[in-house]
Amino acid sequence: MSSKVAVLECPHYDEDKIKKTILKGFEFIGRPDVKDKRILLKPNLLMPAEPHYAVTTHPAIVEAVGEILLEFGAKEVLIGDSPGNALSNIDNLYRRTGMLSLAEKKGFKLVNFSREGIIEVENPNGVVPTIPLSKVVRSVEYIVNLPKLKTHNFTLITCAIKNIFGTIPGFNKSKFHSIAPGPKEFSRLLVEIFNAVRPSLNIVDAIEGMEGDGPSGGTPRKFNRILMSYDGVAIDAVGGWMLGYKPDEIYTTKIAGDMGLGVPSLDDIEIFGSKLEELFGADIKKVLTIHNVLEKVSSPMLSFLSKRLVKLIKIYPEINDDKCIKCEICLRSCPKRAISRVEHKMKIDYRKCISCYCCHELCPQRAIVIKRNKLAEILWLARD
Ligand code: SF4
Ligand code: SF4
Repeated sequence: MSSKVAVLECPHYDEDKIKKTILKGFEFIGRPDVKDKRILLKPNLLMPAEPHYAVTTHPAIVEAVGEILLEFGAKEVLIGDSPGNALSNIDNLYRRTGMLSLAEKKGFKLVNFSREGIIEVENPNGVVPTIPLSKVVRSVEYIVNLPKLKTHNFTLITCAIKNIFGTIPGFNKSKFHSIAPGPKEFSRLLVEIFNAVRPSLNIVDAIEGMEGDGPSGGTPRKFNRILMSYDGVAIDAVGGWMLGYKPDEIYTTKIAGDMGLGVPSLDDIEIFGSKLEELFGADIKKVLTIHNVLEKVSSPMLSFLSKRLVKLIKIYPEINDDKCIKCEICLRSCPKRAISRVEHKMKIDYRKCISCYCCHELCPQRAIVIKRNKLAEILWLARD
């Protein structure tokens, strides 16, 4: 089996250029059959942030994709996502991410995943028995996954598979972090959700993504590319490669490949528009988590590490009181209720913390930083 991924140069968020680029991509991967279909565009709208922060999928990409699909005969274009903070004001989210003005300009319909209700989808032998998807997902005939290419402090990367987590409305997302606290089991759950949703088409905003402490606290990074594929696993393999990872280093890509949901091997992916060797993100600032420190340490070294020593590796969220505005988003988003407000300060109870980094991901002030102790840094440097 092989899959096609278009990796096309596009240096700016210029709508005409983006449209031409995407049309060129369809010549390679094949034109989508969207005639008379209702389409859901699923961008990454992690939090209310303007497009220049490079946290969310740029509206120019969403606009171009919606326009093209209407020109191809689609009946209606919907835009929807459920942000990380379950209590987020959805109108504010759509306004700040540029989706509101885009929808008004182009006649696309904005949908509120939480308001439309939930449908429980059977998940036999899965991490959870049923997956609570937004009903919108089952009400459309075609889903276009529009991720942003970024590093991620828990799953290492966020691209096609991780982006589909947003089809789970409200507090269920944080509940899932509690049910599957480790990155491996959480990644399996993400793949199961991806399997339940099965987007028809994936188009990645990699014009400007993120490196470092992504998916929200890192640094914007220009990749100058748009990626397109009908295979979400193959597109994640290429996206991960652009962020400096081999496909088998990313749990979601590996697990999805093992489940037969797509092609994870770069040898079996036909790439159009760029050369694979030129795409490797050798100089990307990767994330550093407790889990990937342990994964990366070579086995002889691991045998040296007693359980006690492992416990001495610390990679933890820390709140910067000077930046904190006490909005309590972290408190409400923490799956383990490890954050509380004590005498006008936000405090983390590290005995409860499971290092999911949701608080870091969702803090609107970037007031939460990921700290590493010396041992974590040494192990990271010794990983190769
Ligand atoms: S740390 Fe961030 S999310 Fe938490 S209360 Fe302060 S500003 Fe809000
Ligand atoms: S304090 Fe932050 S990292 Fe720890 S469990 Fe809560 S949200 Fe996750």
